[in-house]
Amino acid sequence: MKIGVLALQGAFIEHIKMLRQLGFEAVEVRLPHQLDRLDGLIIPGGESTTIGKLASEYGLIAPLRRFARTRPTWGTCAGMIFLAKDIGIDEQPILGAMDITVDRNAFGRQIDSFETDLQIAGLAGAPFHAVFIRAPVVTAVEPGVDVLARLDDGRIVAVRQGRLLATAFHPELTDDLRLHASFCDIVKGTLD
Ligand code: GLN
Repeated sequence: MKIGVLALQGAFIEHIKMLRQLGFEAVEVRLPHQLDRLDGLIIPGGESTTIGKLASEYGLIAPLRRFARTRPTWGTCAGMIFLAKDIGIDEQPILGAMDITVDRNAFGRQIDSFETDLQIAGLAGAPFHAVFIRAPVVTAVEPGVDVLARLDDGRIVAVRQGRLLATAFHPELTDDLRLHASFCDIVKGTLD
């Protein structure tokens, strides 16, 4: 089983390290052909406008759309924005793979980074310590999308739609491997 991490910009090295800690083969993806033999893909946090721009320049938009239509894909933070169907901004390239609406600048300037403990559906044990950095939130989900976690004020910060997963925070900046393990379970499930 081999999992790729989109390595155009952002926190890709941290994801690779966590996948390797779990014992999985993990590779950096920068070019379309590098998607060919992957069983799953993580799109990291960073800056979604930059990721979108570089993905367009490298001819990755169509191959990434095809990939996300058929294989497990997980977007964290900027990756969540990139996976969404609607971000309310027409000029920014996105994959449109998940039936969610995302607000990019949900927390404005006054509280653009914070940490909080989240209850995440399907994760056993203690709450998940979540790091939010200029994070988005999901403002609407269509049928078929499961909400996995909300902030205390009700805003949605983790969702799953079949093989697709999106989290508004950065699990790769903690040492909690549980979300990476559950994504690897989704990937394994598609290979059985
Ligand atoms: N606000 C950033 C964006 O629009 C996302 C921030 C992050 O990935 N930590 O892409």
